[in-house]
Amino acid sequence: MIKFNKPSITKKEEDCVVDALHNSILSGDGKYTTKVYEEFHKRFGIKNMLLTTSGTTALEMASILADLQSGDEVIAPSFTFSSTINAFLLRGANVVFCDIREDTFNIDENKIEELITEKTKAIYVVHYAGFPCEMDTIIKIANKYNLFIIEDAAQAVGSTYKGKIAGTMTEFGCYSFHETKNYAMGEGGAIVVNEEKYMERAEIIREKGTNRRNVLRGLVDKYTWHDIGSSFLPSDLLAAILYAQMERYDEIMDKRMLVWNTYFNDLKELEANGKLRLPVIPENVTHNAHMFNILLPTPEIKDDLIKKLREKDVIAYICYVPLHSSPYGLKLGYKPKDCPVTEDIASRLLRLPLYADMSEEDAKYVCECIKNIL
Ligand SMILES: *Cc1c(COP(=O)(O)O)cnc(C)c1O
Repeated sequence: MIKFNKPSITKKEEDCVVDALHNSILSGDGKYTTKVYEEFHKRFGIKNMLLTTSGTTALEMASILADLQSGDEVIAPSFTFSSTINAFLLRGANVVFCDIREDTFNIDENKIEELITEKTKAIYVVHYAGFPCEMDTIIKIANKYNLFIIEDAAQAVGSTYKGKIAGTMTEFGCYSFHETKNYAMGEGGAIVVNEEKYMERAEIIREKGTNRRNVLRGLVDKYTWHDIGSSFLPSDLLAAILYAQMERYDEIMDKRMLVWNTYFNDLKELEANGKLRLPVIPENVTHNAHMFNILLPTPEIKDDLIKKLREKDVIAYICYVPLHSSPYGLKLGYKPKDCPVTEDIASRLLRLPLYADMSEEDAKYVCECIKNIL
């Protein structure tokens, strides 16, 4: 059986958790949380980052920090996970869905400007499958209309756009360390605060609206209520898992890349024969081998492929059901035709198994199966 996903856990993760259990604090902001920040600083130059209980809550924190409120409009893709949109609906803001590009499946930067109104306050971009969006264009638009940009970089830890790290190009970047993502802590995430001026408020929001972090730092001797907020900080036990994963950063990346490249090379022949389309890598980006998607000519061929792969013990899944045409999207008044590219791509896209400990042989077997079936 070739599983769809499996976190890569070694003795290192085990040792760090046991050490955290005895030598750190069980609640958040212990020594492993600090070590994780050091790793992200060393590797990516990230200065201000806060671990959160999930990618979802990192996005929620960003919505609070951007001060999104009732009646505000936020432009975002429909081809994403519900968390991207829930994050600001929970603040009372409304979603304006933008269609995606045919090649990268990222938000179509050329369709953003026509959606802007007087109420528009922010753009949420999603670096889908670890491929960064066309940020120069999006940043130009945001500057022109004075909008926040929040990067949902849940899938894009380590990816780059023109040499810049995903999650560091706008006011706020959000990562996920869910067990299905490249670097895992079970449930967890982080908000990258790229402008110093938001950091103080970010720390308060993350600590239930209190300045408790300043007590831990010894700056004040009693903490009090300063703002709204919630319990957004994860246990140091989970940070210990993530620290071990970050120590294995290159190993995990290389292993995923091997599987990704095996798929890419072995399936080229099918692409040449018009049987499927492989991922398109834009010139100015590097990706992190988060996901491998193939685009089939019709929804029927995709459905049939899923079924027949399963008969051969290979688990493959569709990517997203578009949010605008999902039950809640329809309830908000959207129609399937509102994002035609999203609707079409989502119906034909298939996600293949990919995880760090998957062998090259397994990837080759999946390719053989696909070749035989198509
Ligand atoms: C995984 C994911 C999230 C949510 O992250 P969690 O850590 O699972 O809460 C949000 N957005 C995107 C694009 C994701 O892939």
